[in-house]
Amino acid sequence: MSIKVEDYFAPETFKKMKAFADQHETPFVVIDTATIARAYDEIAENFPFAKIYYAVKANPAVEITKLLNEKGSNFDIASIYELDKVLSCGVKPEQISFGNTIKKARDVRYFYEKGIRMYATDSEADLRNIAKAAPGSKIYVRILTEGSGSADWPLSRKFGCQTDMAMDLLVLARELGLVPYGVSFHVGSQQREIGSWDAAIGKVKIIYERLREEDGIHLQMINMGGGFPANYLNRTNTLQAYAEEITRFLKEDFGDDLPEIILEPGRSLIANAGILVSEVVLVSRKSRTAVERWVYTDVGKFSGLIETMDESIKFPIWTEKQGELEDVVIAGPTCDSADIMYENYKYGLPLNLASEDRLYWLSTGAYTTSYSAVEFNGFPPLKSYYL
Ligand SMILES: *Cc1c(COP(=O)(O)O)cnc(C)c1O
Repeated sequence: MSIKVEDYFAPETFKKMKAFADQHETPFVVIDTATIARAYDEIAENFPFAKIYYAVKANPAVEITKLLNEKGSNFDIASIYELDKVLSCGVKPEQISFGNTIKKARDVRYFYEKGIRMYATDSEADLRNIAKAAPGSKIYVRILTEGSGSADWPLSRKFGCQTDMAMDLLVLARELGLVPYGVSFHVGSQQREIGSWDAAIGKVKIIYERLREEDGIHLQMINMGGGFPANYLNRTNTLQAYAEEITRFLKEDFGDDLPEIILEPGRSLIANAGILVSEVVLVSRKSRTAVERWVYTDVGKFSGLIETMDESIKFPIWTEKQGELEDVVIAGPTCDSADIMYENYKYGLPLNLASEDRLYWLSTGAYTTSYSAVEFNGFPPLKSYYL
C-alpha cells in the first residue's frame, strides 16, 4: 500500500508544508490553519441551522482558538484549564459550554464565576452540584448512544445515561431552579455509520415528547456532539453526505421548525490540517531469517500517536523513498513495549527505507499534541507549528 498525498492535500498546500518541514528538526506537527478555516466554513455551510462549538480537546492551540473565534465559533470546554486558555484568547463566556459530565463542584463554581451558564450533566450528583454552584443555569443531559462499533474512537459507556434517567434529571433540574434546556449525545468519534445519528435523534425525540406531555417541560436544544470524519486510511462518506442524511433525520423527527441545534466538531475540523513529521531511527529484523522488518521512528504512542491504540486510527503514512514495498511493524522510540503503533495492520514501506529518512503522518492535526506525554524517557512533548 502506498498512499497518494494528493488524496489528502491540495498540491500547493502540501508544497508549502513540506518546504516548512524541510527547515525543521523532527518530530513535530505542522498545521495549515487555512485548511481549518475551510473545514469550519464547510461545516457551517452544510449545517446552516446549527451553532458550532469547537471541542477544544482536539487541539487546544491558541492559534486555532483565535482563528475559530474570529470565524464566529463557540467552544466546548472540559476543564478549568481549557477555560482559562480560551478566555485569554478573547472568547466570551456566552460562547462557552461546560461539556464534561465529570467535574468537581468547585470547578463548576469557577465556571459560574467566569460567567458560563450552560452545563452538560448525566448524573444526579453532578446536577445537584450544578444547582448549588451555578444556580439558574441551562442544563442539557447527555444520553447514551449505541453504534459505537462503527466509530473508530468510541466515546460510549463512560458518558451519558439511559433515556429514563435523562428525563428524571431534566425534571429534577427544574425543581432545583435550573433551566432544563436540552439533550446531548455523541455517537463516537470518527463515526463511519451515519445511521448512528438517526438512532440517537430518535431517542431525543422521545424525551422531548414525554417531557412535554407528562411534565410540561419544553426543551429547546439538541447537542449532536462530534463524530464527523477526518481523512484517514479508511475512507468515509463526505461531510455533505453526513449533513444531508442527518438533516433528513432531524426533520423527520422534529419537522421544519427545528429546536436550537448544536454541533461540537473536533476531529473533522482539525485533523486534515496537520502533518506529523518524523524520522526513522532504525530499521531492523528480529532474526537472520525474519521476513518482517521493524521500523522505529522518533514518534510513538507517547508523543502524539496514542490513537493508534488497538490500531484504532490508521493514519496515512507517506515517504519520499520510492521502490518495492514490504510489510513492516511500526514502533516508537521509547523503552515501553506498548509503544508499537501498527503490527496487525500491515503497512507497506519501501525496502530501501533507512535511518534518517522521514515519514510524514498525514491527517494528524487533531488529538496528537494534546495527547503527547510530558517527559516519558525524557522525550519532550510533541512540538507544533501553525502556518
Ligand atoms: C471529544 C468530544 C467532541 C469532539 O468529537 P470529535 O469526534 O472529535 O468531533 C465533542 N463533544 C464532546 C462532548 C466531546 O467529548
